[in-house]
Amino acid sequence: MIKEKKNIRSLSLKELKDFFDKKNEKSFRAKQVYEWLWKKSARSFDEMTNLSKEIRILLNENFTIDAININTEQQSKDGTKKISFKLFDGYIIEGVLIPSKNRITACISSQVGCSLGCKFCATGNLGFTRNLYFDEIYDQVAILSKQARKYFNTTLSNIVFMGMGEPLLNYENILKSIDIITSTEGLGISPQRITVSTVGIVKMIRQLGDDKPKFNIALSLHTANNNKRSSIIPVNKQNTVKQLIESLKYYHIKTGKRITIEYVIFKDFNDSLIDAKELADFCKNFPVKINIIEYNPVENSGFLKAENEKLETFVEFLESKNIIINIRKSRGKDIDAACGQLANKLGSLR
Ligand code: SAH
Ligand code: SF4
Repeated sequence: MIKEKKNIRSLSLKELKDFFDKKNEKSFRAKQVYEWLWKKSARSFDEMTNLSKEIRILLNENFTIDAININTEQQSKDGTKKISFKLFDGYIIEGVLIPSKNRITACISSQVGCSLGCKFCATGNLGFTRNLYFDEIYDQVAILSKQARKYFNTTLSNIVFMGMGEPLLNYENILKSIDIITSTEGLGISPQRITVSTVGIVKMIRQLGDDKPKFNIALSLHTANNNKRSSIIPVNKQNTVKQLIESLKYYHIKTGKRITIEYVIFKDFNDSLIDAKELADFCKNFPVKINIIEYNPVENSGFLKAENEKLETFVEFLESKNIIINIRKSRGKDIDAACGQLANKLGSLR
């Protein structure tokens, strides 16, 4: 009978120690292996040069390292880099490296595809295949961090979960990946520099309130009008604007954190003064910061980018209410690397 090998990175340090104990090997080996797996991002046991050949063979016989690998790299005119990654089972996901004046941001995926089918999003068109494991999420950051060094000679300044998928529907893997990304045994990146973007899953926002993680959250609101929201975001029917407000109030009371509101502005859909007023009312409930996101074209979506004049009036109104608001210019559009465009030309995930 062929024994199924286990992905070694699903083991905790304690479980690795137990493995070495059982094999009558010194338990400090576990720490060495753990360091290779996480801090040094080893992709094979042969790289672990401070281990004896026998130990490397032992590991090979018992485990795999289900690392992700770079599949393709594309560079935009504006410097943005899109990288597609191949997973151990052949599926493809995408991550983006976005350089700007004083920071470099890694945008990473949480799922292969997405089950939620928002009308304006290319990932939503593809449907859902599977959740990413926490080590696969970690790998994206480790690889993008290496790329930041290689191409921009600097360290990553921010990480956003704004690639493919809905992070709060892959909750445990997200939390575990951030644990190791922020740990000194992993990449040692501050959780304050990490933002998890969600379409708004009420139950899980409450869970975040209870778990009180140190990273930030962003809500992809796009309109504070419940009926309009349901017409473009199907999951809003079970997670209404009213319920979202209640869950975010709870989250804020429990964590004291400010909430980022993402607002993709579409022509003649959510760009009027009435829309701005509804958004301002929504923002009265807790401290917020709004990011207005330019709509990035997705084939056959039927949406268009809002006109500049409308955008300006919209922003001025919110500013007059003393709300912090930034306009996020689209990046990497020419290579389909901008928000919501991941998988635009992919067609399939394998
Ligand atoms: N599922 C999560 C995170 C991934 S989507 C979420 O929905 O928040 C990341 C961001 O891209 C979200 O704010 C989403 O609304 C936005 N987005 C999706 N399609 C877009 C498009 N075509 N143009 C601009 N932003 C888009
Ligand atoms: Fe999924 Fe977010 Fe795209 Fe909606 S916007 S389909 S939740 S990835």
